[in-house]
Amino acid sequence: MKLGIFSDIHANLEALQRALDFFQEQRIDKYLCLGDIVGYGADPEECVALVRALPIVAVAGNHDRAVVARTELARFNTPARLALQWTREQLTPSSRAFLAKLKLVQIDRQFRLVHASPSSPAEWRYVLSEVDIAEELDAFKEQVCLIGHSHRPFAVAEGKGGIEYVSEPEFTVSGTLRYLINVGSVGQPRDGDPRLCVVIYDSEIKRLSFHRLEYDLVTAQNKMRAVGLPEVLARRLSSGR
Ligand code: ZN
Repeated sequence: MKLGIFSDIHANLEALQRALDFFQEQRIDKYLCLGDIVGYGADPEECVALVRALPIVAVAGNHDRAVVARTELARFNTPARLALQWTREQLTPSSRAFLAKLKLVQIDRQFRLVHASPSSPAEWRYVLSEVDIAEELDAFKEQVCLIGHSHRPFAVAEGKGGIEYVSEPEFTVSGTLRYLINVGSVGQPRDGDPRLCVVIYDSEIKRLSFHRLEYDLVTAQNKMRAVGLPEVLARRLSSGR
């Protein structure tokens, strides 16, 4: 079985379409989504509709919770808050209900899915440093924990010898190791590479691979400007920061 794994779409329809086309070419059987389907971008309703239509296991992100008023808007910076307020008005009741029903944690086979951190899923903590990573590896019992939230992809493996970053974009998941994997962001990468990021896992050969793809970000930016979303949010798509 081939899993298509993705996160942090942020209402970027151009990026999501490109990611889904790629997944289709790769003959994906099932999807895992780490949250933040909406927030920042110009097409929240379309993105929720596309994600909902997939055979998918998904968890809630902080932006998903915020649009259905389960997270306080005060916790967001000004451009994010403005985008969330705008997003609330764009969603149909059925899309809002879909977002409202997303759980904070899901388990699928050997995978634990959580948007931000396995140690405190409701606190939207960023897992960035090696200290954070070591702590989070102790916070779940499954073999692999998949996260998003920081929009910075990485894979870390823990074995008898300690914790190590996996530098190859494609690797075999070893039965003797445990993993914490940030799958990056579809709709707003922040690692300096503006190309969208997705992950594929092939369970037959136990291969996990990261993929970076170009998409029509100029159209995504122009749509954001046309609906009056903050310019800073449009601009950051070109720099991937
Ligand atoms: Zn996000």
